[in-house]
Amino acid sequence: MNYELPDELKMLRDMARKFASEEIAPFAREWDREGVIPQATIDKLAALGFLGVMVPEELGGAGTSHLGMTVVMEEIARRCGGTALMLAAHNGLCIGHIMLAASDEQKKKYIPDLATGKMLGAWALTEPNSGSDAAALTTTAVREGDEWVINGAKNFITNGHRAGVFVVLARTDPAAPKAKGISAFIIERDTPGLTIGPKEDKMGMRASDTVPLNFENCRVPACNLVGELNCGFKDTLRVLERGRITIGSLSVGLGRGGLEESLQYASEREQFGKPLNRHQAIQFMLADMAMEIDAARLLVRRAAVLRDEGKDAKIEASTAKLYASEMATRACLNAIQIHGGYGYLKDIPVERFLRDAKLCEIGEGSSQIQRLVIARSLLDLPEA
Ligand SMILES: Cc1cc2nc3c(=O)[nH]c(=O)nc-3n(C[C@H](O)[C@H](O)[C@H](O)COP(=O)(O)OP(=O)(O)OC[C@H]3O[C@@H](n4cnc5c(N)ncnc54)[C@H](O)[C@@H]3O)c2cc1C
Repeated sequence: MNYELPDELKMLRDMARKFASEEIAPFAREWDREGVIPQATIDKLAALGFLGVMVPEELGGAGTSHLGMTVVMEEIARRCGGTALMLAAHNGLCIGHIMLAASDEQKKKYIPDLATGKMLGAWALTEPNSGSDAAALTTTAVREGDEWVINGAKNFITNGHRAGVFVVLARTDPAAPKAKGISAFIIERDTPGLTIGPKEDKMGMRASDTVPLNFENCRVPACNLVGELNCGFKDTLRVLERGRITIGSLSVGLGRGGLEESLQYASEREQFGKPLNRHQAIQFMLADMAMEIDAARLLVRRAAVLRDEGKDAKIEASTAKLYASEMATRACLNAIQIHGGYGYLKDIPVERFLRDAKLCEIGEGSSQIQRLVIARSLLDLPEA
């Protein structure tokens, strides 16, 4: 693996870094408090191509690689985890599923508007009674003539408050073993029978919205089935593989945020007659943070490069997501410690980074589920 980013990705990184520092950092605290990212910011992100990071240029995207996507995510998350999560769900999950499994006709219909930010996308797998055990979902889709009739409920759907399009997983063959009777559907926002619930009041990632969805006799045209009938869960696992790389890079960004704020603070604040960064205990915390961020980034980039080479990266994606998310929480806790009492106040962003980082250990497969994935592979055990 080449450890140096190619020139075009360095340019992409610098562009994302500049945008995040000028257009996100000054407002992130307010977005966290208010629970919203202004539409004007989403429009600016779209203008940079960040709403279609990996979408081919002919469909309106920036046409970059998995590696490029990790670079963008890290830079945005360095300033605001919620904005990065909005991008992750839109790019990695919603667009990711459509690009993976949809027909050319479906891609032409939905991707250009998503990639250019005319509308946001959401992806709905989790339900009130099926989270980690995602294949146990009970939302149903029953074929009636030229339509599918969807009934059920989804929980915790990122971007759902304003998404124009939802990719929704539903059971299409109740008699099949649980992972084998699931299919994916594109459901447009204004489809009768789809009710979008109120925004959840969350601990972190507050700038991104999270809502429950309800489907009551929600009728979608038969042509909105995405991918092969009853093969939606196989595609879901592939989408999550990419999603875990995205959450890994988001975690690296949050850890880096903690480190960079700490480096700055520890050089300015003096105690016992010298700057904090001249106390060895503080130096060791900084060194541990830097080492772990570096290790996490390497794991994330290894998984991204494997995907770019068209190779399977299931274990590498789980390893990267697991290590990077837990690293981000550790790094942000250290960052608060280094800031002392000031780190506990909302004036300094490290407490927000910690609240944002915790989600990365839960969403898109919790740390326990990543450990199960890795252990099953080590022990050659079948999937649950
Ligand atoms: C802010 C936010 C945004 C989200 N966005 C989306 C989205 O856009 N789309 C979507 O579909 N979902 C989304 N989710 C849902 C998320 O993926 C789930 O919350 C996650 O998969 C965990 O499911 P759960 O919350 O039901 O927890 P549970 O599955 O009930 O797990 C509870 C605890 O038990 C542990 N556990 C479960 N099973 C096992 C096991 N076999 N062995 C050991 N431990 C186990 C878990 O690790 C966890 O610690 C989001 C969640 C949040 C909080």
